Amino acid sequence: MYKVLREEYGLPSKLAQDCYRDAIATYKGWLKNPKRGRFPVLKNISVWLTAKASYTLDLENKKAKILGQEVQIIGYPHNLDFYKDWEIKEARLVMRADEWYLHVTMKKKVKVEKEVKGLIAVDINMDFITLGNDKQVIEIPTKLSDVYHYKKLAEGLQRKYPKRWKENKRILNRIRHFHTRARNILIDFARKVGKWVIDEAIKFSVNYIVLERLNRMISRVKELKKDFRDRLYLMEYSRIQYWIGWEAKKHGLNVIYVDAKYSSQTCPKCGSRMVESSYRMLKCEKCGYEDHRDYIAVKNLYGRGSLTLSTAPQMRDVTTNR
Ligand SMILES: [Zn+2]
Repeated sequence: MYKVLREEYGLPSKLAQDCYRDAIATYKGWLKNPKRGRFPVLKNISVWLTAKASYTLDLENKKAKILGQEVQIIGYPHNLDFYKDWEIKEARLVMRADEWYLHVTMKKKVKVEKEVKGLIAVDINMDFITLGNDKQVIEIPTKLSDVYHYKKLAEGLQRKYPKRWKENKRILNRIRHFHTRARNILIDFARKVGKWVIDEAIKFSVNYIVLERLNRMISRVKELKKDFRDRLYLMEYSRIQYWIGWEAKKHGLNVIYVDAKYSSQTCPKCGSRMVESSYRMLKCEKCGYEDHRDYIAVKNLYGRGSLTLSTAPQMRDVTTNR
């Protein structure tokens, strides 16, 4: 294969190596799969490229040299500057819908400052992602209603054609399209939340992010009503937390997880139980403190995070960057 690629196609030796290495990887993947199925067929045009040998990247001038040809990079990431001092590793060149995409792997050793400069807490619920400390809280709406909209459209079609939808290609494609839309919104949103949280952490000049530990959340999901459960499941807490963690790592920030038990009904001032005073507003029965429910959750997570960090060595309650 190497000889054919070199002599018949005139590929430079490193690129010929990249090509057959890629083919071997695909073949081995098929071979190792016990279910195996049909022999792999190339459907998408794509190839691994070794950095420097098969391609070079000039981020400053937004140019790349691929297969010996100089190309202009259009639609490059907007935060290109951020990656300027990163090491460029291998890439995958992919053709999709008549456009070429270069997926580049980059590497950098990021120093994580463990000394606490400050912290913010993040509360994720169905309608809002809320972030802040004991003094200042900000929030962004979730995309859940959009996701829900597409899921409902898909379910609607399944209900409308209870027998036909599985066999009818046109209906099936519509249903798939709605599910894909819903999924894409979720994936995109989770990434954006990750970026947003880290941007805010930098603006707050803190280096610790406090998140709710999930195990309790997951067991709580089972107790909720069907419709409710669907929505909560869709939110995919863990996906959002994953991206917060990923962005934090990239920027050298820390993430800690705290127990969120009763965090949305305990008074952040005196620790007493709070009762609903009006829509989404809670009031402390003992000290009279009143605030928005989401803000109370954040303030409590913040308080628990502060406590955890201030007593960190003694507390077994802390898991950093899991
Ligand atoms: Zn109180």
